[in-house]
Amino acid sequence: MTQQALFIIFGGTGDLAYRKLYPSLFRLYEKGYLKDDFAVIGTARRPWTNDHYHEVVMNAIADDGHESDRTNSEIARKFASHFYYQSHNVNDTEHYVALRKLADKLDEKYKLNGNRIYYLAMAPRFFGTIAGHLKSEKLITDHGYNRLIIEKPFGRDFETAKELNDDISAAFSEDQIYRIDHYLGKEAIQSIAALRFGNQVIESLWNKEHIDNIQITLAESLGVEERAGYYETAGALRDMVQNHILQIVSLLTMQKPSEYTAKELRDRKVEALQNIKVYSAKEASKNFVRGQYGEDAEHEQLDYRHEEGTDEHSQIETFVAGKLETTNGNLTGVPIYIRTGKRLARKSTQINVVFKDTTDNIFTATGEQDTKLEQNVLTLYVEPDQGYQLDLNVKNGSQGYGIMPIHLEYHKTSAEKAKVPEAYEKLIHDALDGNRTNFAHWHEVAQAWRIVDVVRQNWDSQKTDFPNYVSGTMGPKAAQELLTRDHRDWVFGATKH
Ligand code: NAD
Repeated sequence: MTQQALFIIFGGTGDLAYRKLYPSLFRLYEKGYLKDDFAVIGTARRPWTNDHYHEVVMNAIADDGHESDRTNSEIARKFASHFYYQSHNVNDTEHYVALRKLADKLDEKYKLNGNRIYYLAMAPRFFGTIAGHLKSEKLITDHGYNRLIIEKPFGRDFETAKELNDDISAAFSEDQIYRIDHYLGKEAIQSIAALRFGNQVIESLWNKEHIDNIQITLAESLGVEERAGYYETAGALRDMVQNHILQIVSLLTMQKPSEYTAKELRDRKVEALQNIKVYSAKEASKNFVRGQYGEDAEHEQLDYRHEEGTDEHSQIETFVAGKLETTNGNLTGVPIYIRTGKRLARKSTQINVVFKDTTDNIFTATGEQDTKLEQNVLTLYVEPDQGYQLDLNVKNGSQGYGIMPIHLEYHKTSAEKAKVPEAYEKLIHDALDGNRTNFAHWHEVAQAWRIVDVVRQNWDSQKTDFPNYVSGTMGPKAAQELLTRDHRDWVFGATKH
């Protein structure tokens, strides 16, 4: 079904708009989901003309695409002709009046039925101002839908997130707000529910009787790159754990929704997060580890403190590992180990579900050397690899009765991966459909902050010795000890999985 809508993109000259939004809108256009009745107003402070804006949009889709002449293709030009640029300072009320006039004009020209999507591709400090002006200057229509899409970071802690939410909520109701966590747009993350609830064999084992522990790793091999300015104020805990990792935790630990609807799913996710223990400061010290990468002389890579734009005494963590405790239904007591970091051994996002040891290994009586049974592990590869792996024990092919571990694997081919819509494309598609399943509810965001705030405050109250891990490894020793002390090991190591 095609959609009629006016997009107003705040931050239209920015990186996110260029790299993600324009290419995603183009793909929706190519697929016929957006047709003739849509328009986009890009706003930012720069005084661009419409012609220049069209060029930028066409360059953005060419940079994203594989076809060499995508920029000048007829379809690209037709698509770009729906884009209008309005120079705009978000703090200036007069500019919203001009914006409303243009929006109303385009609404009529393209027959958009008053449907508006406001995409705030700007720093969150502007969100309240923009939302307030959209309401006071009457950009919000009363005859179509009005949806506000916002980006992370959503606050720096619970208090600032609440202030931000209060500001936005003065103009938009919760069901009009689409909080992007782009991990929720990823195919592999959306597949968690299918894997858990579409397979009796898995669903029946997804409980504390059978699962020993769950491990989530978001490992990056790159360093801070050009993001030092932002990263110095955020760190890995705010940048990755509060949002992406806790969203994954909620999908892995939620109880079964009674049906696959946005409301049911979100209720179960909120419940799952509310059942993650909020630690005391002492518990946070025991269960969370921070790290910052040191130099990798062999590969001529600087330590974090010597990267451009960082503080030479920086206390910002580029690595976090932690153990979470859940009391959610039948997973109560199953430890969840989480880990994320920069400059680790290998880029890989994966989830490892480790099943309990076989209680009674009958094969030891055979006297063979290889009768040891490995734990069964179910791995979900999220990126760059997308797929699944199940580690099983089978007979090893000898005359006797030795056992060996094998891996049943399924990995999407490059061609299959290329067919999966990119996260932003899916999320914009969902927003056009009014489907909030894959957007974070305020209650999820709030609870995620409560969980990480204690850890942050605990770390901020004491200095630590950084750097404490060598680039190209899997983080500081303490991250290993977090599991060793529980007689466990990370499934994903520098050389395995
Ligand atoms: P950016 O700095 O590249 O772009 C910011 C935009 O805001 C520019 O268009 C700039 O002109 C505009 N702007 C700034 N001040 C303004 C003002 N007073 N009035 C009008 N316009 C003004 O930033 P970005 O990387 O595009 O990120 C935008 C938002 O998206 C941020 O909240 C960021 O955290 C978030 N985000 C970005 C990415 C990404 O891949 N770039 C990923 C996730 C989240």
